[in-house]
Amino acid sequence: MNIDHILIRYGELALKGKNRGSFEKLLLANIRRALAHCEGVKARRTFGRIVVELNGVAHEPVVEALAPVFGIHSYSLALRVENDVEAMQRGALFMLNQHPEAKTFKISARRAYKPFPTDSQTLNHLVGGYVLKAKDGAIAVNVHTPDANINVEVRESGTYITSGAFAGAKGLPLGSSGKVLHMLSGGIDSPVAAHLLMQRGAELEMIHFHSPPYTNERAKQKVLDLVRILTKYGGEMTVHLVPFTDIQTHIHQKVPSSYEMTIMRRMMLRIAEKIAIERGILAISNGESLGQVASQTLASMHTINEVTNVPVLRPLLAMDKEVVIGKAKQIGTYETSILPFEDCCTIFLPSDSKTKPKRTNAARYEQHVEVEEKCNAAVAETERLTIATRTAKNEIEQLF
Ligand code: ATP
Ligand code: MG
Repeated sequence: MNIDHILIRYGELALKGKNRGSFEKLLLANIRRALAHCEGVKARRTFGRIVVELNGVAHEPVVEALAPVFGIHSYSLALRVENDVEAMQRGALFMLNQHPEAKTFKISARRAYKPFPTDSQTLNHLVGGYVLKAKDGAIAVNVHTPDANINVEVRESGTYITSGAFAGAKGLPLGSSGKVLHMLSGGIDSPVAAHLLMQRGAELEMIHFHSPPYTNERAKQKVLDLVRILTKYGGEMTVHLVPFTDIQTHIHQKVPSSYEMTIMRRMMLRIAEKIAIERGILAISNGESLGQVASQTLASMHTINEVTNVPVLRPLLAMDKEVVIGKAKQIGTYETSILPFEDCCTIFLPSDSKTKPKRTNAARYEQHVEVEEKCNAAVAETERLTIATRTAKNEIEQLF
């Protein structure tokens, strides 16, 4: 006897309504992709769940691979037995023995397949009685707060016996909310913002601005490392690497220093918009948090955002830095983010940046800037890379 299945539950509430079918299909496809390296393992949809058949493969790598898949609420190791009371009794005892530390237990039978002749209450007694006898006083029943809760679920195709559950990544299946172009720097915030959007079902393409030789190869590598960490939550990712040196030096020459940062951000947003339109993407996102720095005041956002009417999503807008740092540690990007590097935004960054830049002033200064030519040239010289999935090495929380 051995663990031979994993039962996956998904967020029932989020998946109600007419989108349910397509969400389920997407989730199944994402699960299959996450398990592609576990040869022999099969996943299918059944009775409002997704069932993974292990086919002799050890469950540990499968459990690990499922942890970062968005849209999974929780999942449990399961043993499938025939619809036969004796088989259920032996199965329940096997499951209980997986918890050697348990002093109390409970059997929770559920007869979802009504033609099975024994009802749930009777099954609780028959299975519980067998286990008590087999353990010969080593364990007691506790129906309110058992150390081990053994679920016995009778389905037409067989009975699934489970105990406990792993917490899933929650959220919505990746891809169910469409695509977003995310502005990724090498800092702490933007990878966390990316993760939050992915958790809400948004598939991301990344855009990064770099200014060689002021920003070096290592800075670029660091950003790609962050992308690689994020791919474990959703497979491949396209990265647009935009050369920004020419624009920055041009702005530095043409614009008063107090407006350099504002104009530079406006240029970034214009370029992001062009790439989003080219790729059929409906929104841009970033890691801004209200009031964090001069470029993130309301006045700055008002002036910078003027250049596009594509929605700019800011998942961290109202989050404190400590919370963001906590999340960065949790998702595994923090250690990479804190490595020293030069972001293009810090090159020639004047100390007198306006915290309340005005649209009228920005437009006036831009009269000296070759806005369209420079943006088009940057788009034309953008390098496009695809970063592939890496197997998850995730901490898994076990809920008992
Ligand atoms: P982060 O920690 O994400 O770098 P930050 O607090 O350092 O954020 P800023 O440097 O002001 O803030 O950047 C604000 C946002 O602008 C970033 O979160 C990111 O979305 C975007 N951004 C900044 N620099 C770049 C860059 N070089 N390429 C792409 N996006 C960038
Ligand atoms: Mg930054």
